[in-house]
Amino acid sequence: MEQTKKSLLGNPQNTIEVIKRHQFAFQKKFGQNFLIDPHVLDKIITAAQITDGDCVLEIGPGIGTMTQRLAESARHVIAVEIDKNLIPILEETLKEYHNITVINQDILKMDIPGLVDEYNQGAPIKVVANLPYYITTPIIMGLFESQVPIDNLTVMVQKEVAQRMQAGPGSKDYGALSLAVQYYAQPYLAANVPPNCFIPRPGVGSAVIRLSRHRRPPAQTENPALMFRLIRASFNQRRKTLQNGLNNSPELSYSREVIAAAIESLGLGPSVRGEALTLEQFARLADWFDAYEKKEK
Ligand code: SAM
Repeated sequence: MEQTKKSLLGNPQNTIEVIKRHQFAFQKKFGQNFLIDPHVLDKIITAAQITDGDCVLEIGPGIGTMTQRLAESARHVIAVEIDKNLIPILEETLKEYHNITVINQDILKMDIPGLVDEYNQGAPIKVVANLPYYITTPIIMGLFESQVPIDNLTVMVQKEVAQRMQAGPGSKDYGALSLAVQYYAQPYLAANVPPNCFIPRPGVGSAVIRLSRHRRPPAQTENPALMFRLIRASFNQRRKTLQNGLNNSPELSYSREVIAAAIESLGLGPSVRGEALTLEQFARLADWFDAYEKKEK
């Protein structure tokens, strides 16, 4: 019987059937855990707010489960998959769709701005991914820090990573990733996803989070790169004071006295820890050091 597009994948039987027929062997090094729960797929598609004018970049399509759904909702889908053994499977599972481009590449090596130019005339795209956990942070940070025009990113990540993305000062999860997410985007937790929604089952819980990119960051600084160096230095040694964190960082070369003056300029005491500072305070700190450097030149 001819299967309809919508019922093809996204449930355990069909996924297992495709995997067996192609004798596909899961590769741990690529973080391959395929989604087999249609409700989770629905939640991802809804959270991503895809419309029929959208161009969507999917990172790691696997056997094409989410790709099919994306193709039903979007104008065009670009699916970048590193594993060459999945390409013949994708050719089969996606053959009825004419708005999908599959690229066999490592996403970390792709010219993403080039893709956006080619497939969306440089206009903002949406990114959807059930990410391999080992590259979650480099992918998200790379997309934010580069000049890729993005509306939003809807990603499946490890539950702990989703918590870190949404944490504020004072929480144990607060860190460099929380501040980067705050600076670039508005996070929204769309779903918690237990291990039994995947084959094979991952050893950790997962969550779907949407990051809607800010038009203008909520804190303004003259020197965002310096601000992120300060943030990394502050959280490298969590239990240390801000003073010691900045002093010991290989990325910074300010004297103790200069650092003390910068901290004092925020109205903070010498024993303050980096994890107590808000994004706005890091922005002010960056501007203080930026002004200091310009004066010294
Ligand atoms: N999207 C599918 C799903 O939800 O069932 C698969 C998700 S699986 C967690 C991650 C996928 O990303 C795998 O297909 C894996 O081969 C692919 N992948 C891993 N590293 C990648 C990379 N650097 N670039 C592109 N794809 C990658």
